[in-house]
This record gives sequence, structure tokens and C-alpha cells, in this order.
Amino acid sequence: MLIELEQIERQYKMGDEIVHALDRVDLTVSENEYVAIMGASGSGKSTLMNILGCLDKATAGSYRLNDIETTGMSASQLARVRNQQIGFVFQTFELLPRSSALQNVEMPLIYSSKYPWRKRREMAQGALERVGLGGRVTHKPNQMSGGERQRVAVARALICSPSLILADEPTGNLDSKNSASILELFDNLHKEGQTIVIVTHEEDVAQHADRILRMQDGKIISDSSRKGGQW
Ligand code: ADP
Ligand code: MG
Repeated sequence: MLIELEQIERQYKMGDEIVHALDRVDLTVSENEYVAIMGASGSGKSTLMNILGCLDKATAGSYRLNDIETTGMSASQLARVRNQQIGFVFQTFELLPRSSALQNVEMPLIYSSKYPWRKRREMAQGALERVGLGGRVTHKPNQMSGGERQRVAVARALICSPSLILADEPTGNLDSKNSASILELFDNLHKEGQTIVIVTHEEDVAQHADRILRMQDGKIISDSSRKGGQW
């Protein structure tokens, strides 16, 4: 199993009040699933994504990623898991504005310091070609359209061959044409075997996934899968 969450809780203390952003969530996701998470604003979607991505720690419960328990890990151990296993795509792209597409995409490799620069360049070039941007490597974010920027972000997410891609509202800032092209890219990655978890509030975006989780008040209130074209 790729993801195993057991009784995950994330509480925030706000003065005297405790907010249960996640309330005893159980969830398993296997390799090559394409999962969409839906739910009203404040239902806990981003909190769940942050925990799945090891950007945040649960206040209780257990999270195993690829059979490795992350719960007791230190910040630097979690950073390493993040770097090696998880690719992030955000609504606002989160690219470095003064860096080229190529430099943005190779950034995660620089942190891992595993490859010499020539190899890094080659890998970044390959990732940009994979998302259809082989001809845009020297462009900076402000010289690209929103859809192209998000493709750069997807290339950056792919560069470490992650076991999991997490995308929080990846089409939220895109027009319908660019949204469609990003969703097509995700469809293709999924066909190639990539596991993807996406947050969206749009039903037609969620329809690209083969499993839809719905959240409310920090809980998963429904979990449905598509089998042979039927939900
Ligand atoms: P969603 O992404 O579904 O809109 P979130 O996961 O961002 O929801 O938030 C879930 C709940 O946790 C909300 O009630 C929100 O106000 C609360 N929350 C999120 N982050 C924090 C924080 N850093 N401090 C306090 N409360 C938070
Ligand atoms: Mg959110």
C-alpha cells in the first residue's frame, strides 16, 4: 500500500477553542490510483494534503508512506521523504520568478545533491519535454502563460520520479483551455502509472480521477470509486 492513514487527527488551538481540522481520518491509497478530494472550504482538504506531503505532522494517528512510518520522524527526515517521494503542484504555481523554466525544474535535484550539474540539466530538460515545454527552457515565469507556468510546476514535481503527486487546486487559477491541458497531462501521467491525489471543488475536474473522497468537518464522509466506467 502506498498510503496508509490510521486515525489521523490534526488539531489547532485557537485561544480556548480546539479546531479539529482532521478528525480521526482513516485512508488507504494504492499505487497508480488517481484520487480527487472534494469538500466545502474549511472541511480539511489542505490539512490532509499537507500531512500526506509531510509538510505538516498529525497531532495523533499513524501515517505510513510506502510501508515506512512517518509519525515519529524529525523535520529533516520528513524533508528527505518529501524530496525523494513527493511532487507538489499548487494553485499558484510557486515558481521562482527570476529563474528560468529549466532552473525551476532542477531545483529539487539541487536540494538532494545527488547529481552533477550536467546530469541535472539533462533531467530537467527531459522533464520539460515530457510536459510539452521542450522549447521554453530559458523562459522565465513572467514570459509564459498560466498554463505553461503550471506545466513547469508539473515538470518540477516529476523530476525526482516521485511515488506520489499531490496537487491542491492545480487548475484553480487557469482558464478552461489551460485547465483542460493540465488535466490531460495528469490523465497521461496516470496512464503511465503515476499515483495522483488532487484537491478540487469542480465536479468535472474530479471526474478525471477514478476515486472521489468527499470531506466535511475534518472527516471523509464518502469514498467512491469508478469501476468499469460506473461510480
Ligand atoms: P480546506 O482546504 O478544505 O478549505 P483547511 O484544511 O485549510 O480546509 O482547514 C480546515 C480547518 O482547519 C478550518 O476550520 C481552518 O480554519 C482550520 N485551520 C487550517 N489551518 C489552520 C491554522 N494554521 N491555524 C488554525 N486553524 C487552521
Ligand atoms: Mg484548501
